[in-house]
Amino acid sequence: MQITKNTVAQFHYTLTNTQGELLDSSKDRAPLLYLHGHSALISGLENQLEGKSSGEKFVAEIKSEDAYGDYNEELVHIVPKNGFQNDGDEQLAEGMQVQVDTNNGMAVALVTKIEGEDVTLDLNHPLSGMDLKFDIEIMDVRMATAEEIEHGHAHGEGGHQH
Ligand code: ZN
Repeated sequence: MQITKNTVAQFHYTLTNTQGELLDSSKDRAPLLYLHGHSALISGLENQLEGKSSGEKFVAEIKSEDAYGDYNEELVHIVPKNGFQNDGDEQLAEGMQVQVDTNNGMAVALVTKIEGEDVTLDLNHPLSGMDLKFDIEIMDVRMATAEEIEHGHAHGEGGHQH
């Protein structure tokens, strides 16, 4: 069976950048399960999965604009340190990820610098501005259930209600 709109596919992947550095892999966990054609994945990856079949292995090379977009300097903000709640013993530190309230709701930001009372937050996706390479093996393709299509996402092995 081929991957087309409203099929549910499962695949293993190994993600590297163009320098060949490992960024992520599904090999030590269950394969990724998703509903095709509902923008569950980055557009460049869904486009290349279209028409692939169970058992197929291929390499998808994806430009940053079809992955997580360009790095955007406007998503870097300097905010005062006293704006952070001190919840318990976790000290604010460079390299830490924090939840921030933005105009578009809650987002994850990376603390890139702390200088005196100035905290630099970077709201870019960690993979923004990067061309990506996915090594993919399709494990399973099936028709989505009516419920999955209605929800707009795949349901796991045991199914779930929400
Ligand atoms: Zn659901």
